Amino acid sequence: MEAISYERATDVATALRAIREPGAVFIGGGTNLVDLMKGGVEKPLKLVDITHLGAGLDAIGTLPDGGLRIGALVRNSDAANHALVREGYPLLTQALLAGASAQLRNMATVGGNLMQRTRCPYFYDTAFPSCNKRLPGSGCGAIDGHNRGHAILGASPQCIAVNPSDMSVALAALDATVHVAGQDGERIIPISEFHRLPEDRPDIDTTLRPGELITAVQLPPPAFAEHAHYLKVRDRASYAFALVSVAAALQLDGTTVSNARIALGGVAHKPWRATIAEQRLIGRPLSDDVLREAAAAELRAAHPQRENRFKVTLAERAIQRAVDVAAGRGGAHPTGATI
Ligand code: SF4
Repeated sequence: MEAISYERATDVATALRAIREPGAVFIGGGTNLVDLMKGGVEKPLKLVDITHLGAGLDAIGTLPDGGLRIGALVRNSDAANHALVREGYPLLTQALLAGASAQLRNMATVGGNLMQRTRCPYFYDTAFPSCNKRLPGSGCGAIDGHNRGHAILGASPQCIAVNPSDMSVALAALDATVHVAGQDGERIIPISEFHRLPEDRPDIDTTLRPGELITAVQLPPPAFAEHAHYLKVRDRASYAFALVSVAAALQLDGTTVSNARIALGGVAHKPWRATIAEQRLIGRPLSDDVLREAAAAELRAAHPQRENRFKVTLAERAIQRAVDVAAGRGGAHPTGATI
């Protein structure tokens, strides 16, 4: 057994210094990292505890432009239930509450949610020899194996895993930005560029540079509070990852869609911004035919696997349903988050 050292960082500068040691990783809520360590997938030599950094990393507040800053160490349950989030960004509240269990949401942080890794079973099973994400160059066990929960969009011959986050799907629809600090200073990453498609490096999930620390997520001023809906389709009503999820946010002029933001979860290696569907909706009166056409256009590029062809139809119907509910055309399902 390898010994693991531990350091509790008390400010950002200390954390950035500590992470430079070989084999060091940040630990916040630990809800994914500890699982990965127990399974032998992650083998850090040092844990840098970032839960006591201060500097507003555990706070939520308004920005001068009317937008919102959510510190990276804010717990998922606190973010979901904060009045400024509930009132201005109900899509984010719905997505956060659709994720994991109440106990996990009480521990998991916003930054950690962005960093959580795929739940592909071949990735977690170290007895299984083929997983390019866990062992680069070893192959992909899922492509010829069980792939019911895997990607239908943006996959590569190297990896067909999906990103498991609900929160990130809502952030994609809301055009969030991820704020990070590193050895070279601070930078801002649009959420659309934060998570990667697998291409030929599925072992790399995000565009974070080595040693960078997420400090906050920022949202533009609220513009979609009135017409927003997060729909999560899963095998059971709680504590399950999405087969398909849809974050839909609209602005309406009467029945005409003046602006649309749609993002999909459970279908790709990153939250999938459905820009084709958005463009098919904007400027048109919302109708069943328009919605059906928009959803079908988005999924035209889908490449399903042997066991997940159903996801194409499911995603089309979930887009239609989520937009319908966001527009006030369809009643929410009694469970609020599943169909
Ligand atoms: Fe590994 Fe990706 Fe293939 Fe899953 S889909 S086995 S994570 S390479």
